[in-house]
Amino acid sequence: MSRFEYAPAPESRAIVDIKSSYGLFINGAFTEATDGKPFKTVSPASEEVLAEVSEAGPADVDRAVKAARKAYEKVWGPMAGRDRAKYLYRIARLIQERSRELAVLESLDNGKPIRESRDVDLPLVAAHFFYYAGWADKLEYAGAGADPQPLGVAAQVIPWNFPLMMLAWKIAPALAAGNTVVLKPAETTPLTALAFAEICQQADLPPGVVNIVTGAGRTGQALVEHEGVDKVAFTGSTAVGRAIAKSVAGTDKKLTLELGGKAANIVFEDAPIDQTIEGIVNGIFFNQGHVCCAGSRLLVQESVYDEVLARLKRRMSSLRMGDPLDKNTDIGAINSAEQLARIRELSQIGEDEGSERWSPECELPTQGFWFPPTVFTGVSQAHRIAREEIFGPVLSVLTFRTPAEAVEKANNTPFGLSAGVWTEKGSRILWMASQLRAGVVWANTFNRFDPTSPFGGYKESGYGREGGRHGLEAYLAH
Ligand code: NAD
Ligand code: MG
Repeated sequence: MSRFEYAPAPESRAIVDIKSSYGLFINGAFTEATDGKPFKTVSPASEEVLAEVSEAGPADVDRAVKAARKAYEKVWGPMAGRDRAKYLYRIARLIQERSRELAVLESLDNGKPIRESRDVDLPLVAAHFFYYAGWADKLEYAGAGADPQPLGVAAQVIPWNFPLMMLAWKIAPALAAGNTVVLKPAETTPLTALAFAEICQQADLPPGVVNIVTGAGRTGQALVEHEGVDKVAFTGSTAVGRAIAKSVAGTDKKLTLELGGKAANIVFEDAPIDQTIEGIVNGIFFNQGHVCCAGSRLLVQESVYDEVLARLKRRMSSLRMGDPLDKNTDIGAINSAEQLARIRELSQIGEDEGSERWSPECELPTQGFWFPPTVFTGVSQAHRIAREEIFGPVLSVLTFRTPAEAVEKANNTPFGLSAGVWTEKGSRILWMASQLRAGVVWANTFNRFDPTSPFGGYKESGYGREGGRHGLEAYLAH
């Protein structure tokens, strides 16, 4: 198949001003860490060091929690909802004003294509703040009682796959409900959270309402275990989620966990084929497959298997992989050397267990962390690549004959975050949605997000919902 060559169309990075080093954002100001060692964040596409970032130790975390407590008691908790809303609207507008800069910064630090950070992440980040700003003076209608009250100080720990979007999902509802926060971004992607700290300053947000502490697992652990915290919200791996659930058990802290997934994307023989192929590609290759709700298990009805596979491979051959800042890029860099090693290991296990591996021919850059879009066929339900989250651009394909078999296979997983159904029949969509044990079921689309819509999982995918009215409940006492 012939491929068009595109001239490079790089987005300029001149719009971002990355400092050589960053402190912690505590009580409205950047401050030096007192008991941690600084670490570096790199661009995963080039391994270039972008900045040095402070590690918050327990004493720093303690300062941040105390600042959040004071702000909660003296300023933010007692403030009228309509006044909190003004700050949230201001933050939302500043995000929009600075969205090009934030998109470039996100793509540099994370490795995701600028097309995605610009067209998906940033619009959703702003939308989340706008949406929850609208709730701040209407909390009595949130379904949490006639006079819902905030919880206090929220400890929030987020992953590296959607750094600024996960921040928005955590901070916007917490603040709207009257809580103050201490947030820890992931160690490989701290830069947009630090830019957000500047936005809080620009918005004149009262000091201590938002605090950002950078660091790795040790910092996260000190934060969620801190006695002064009333609520813990975590997004990340199931293993860490479990450890956090244990440490929180027996305390008064409220907990929400958004963990992994292994979503079934189910294609029936009557599915609109072109749309379906795009949906499969979007389901697993969006954001290099670093998506908790990725459609990583493709279930195809046997009668259309050959056609779907042939078309999928042809489409995969036209995906462009490379410089995340190039506007033509479809697939960017893997976020870290550790994640790349994990993807390689599980893919090797897929081959060893007898599945057939295929990737289109593509040249991988020599610097940075890269993995080609990959599809495994001949996968059975017992294979590890059908059961474990790979969190990379790797699709496992299984087949089915009847709707009942599709449901059984789709639900045969320890997770339950999302699922996709592709069919022309409305009645089948509704029946499937009622059978699938997944928090979100997409029909004839995939990976669609909206701040008004609750998101979250069953089983090992975690508990609690983010987004929509449900997302407020996690931050309200009732
Ligand atoms: P992780 O769970 O280790 O990290 C997520 C966040 O938790 C980071 O900010 C990290 O610093 C922090 N953290 C780590 N240990 C902690 C602890 N003991 N207490 C408190 N916070 C802690 O995830 P990872 O190592 O970056 O990725 C491993 C796997 O997790 C991935 O391969 C993927 O399968 C899964 N994952 C899922 C999501 C998701 O959105 N559900 C996101 C990232 C990773
Ligand atoms: Mg980085």
